[in-house]
Amino acid sequence: MPRETPCPICQRQGPWLAEPFAPFCSERCKMVDLGNWLGEEYRIASPITAEDLLELAEMEESDPDKESGSDC
Ligand SMILES: [Zn+2]
Repeated sequence: MPRETPCPICQRQGPWLAEPFAPFCSERCKMVDLGNWLGEEYRIASPITAEDLLELAEMEESDPDKESGSDC
């Protein structure tokens, strides 16, 4: 019998570890958790500095090589 654990988001008990959205009970809770992580990252990085923009520009310069293989 699969072990029952509480869903980290909604605390509902069930055999979530055997489910596709483990350790969450459902896709919804998984997305909620993902949203929490993204939200925190955005909050930490929210004041964009000139250095950030420079880094982004450098990343974009190296991108076209990688993306050119995927035109339909
Ligand atoms: Zn849940």
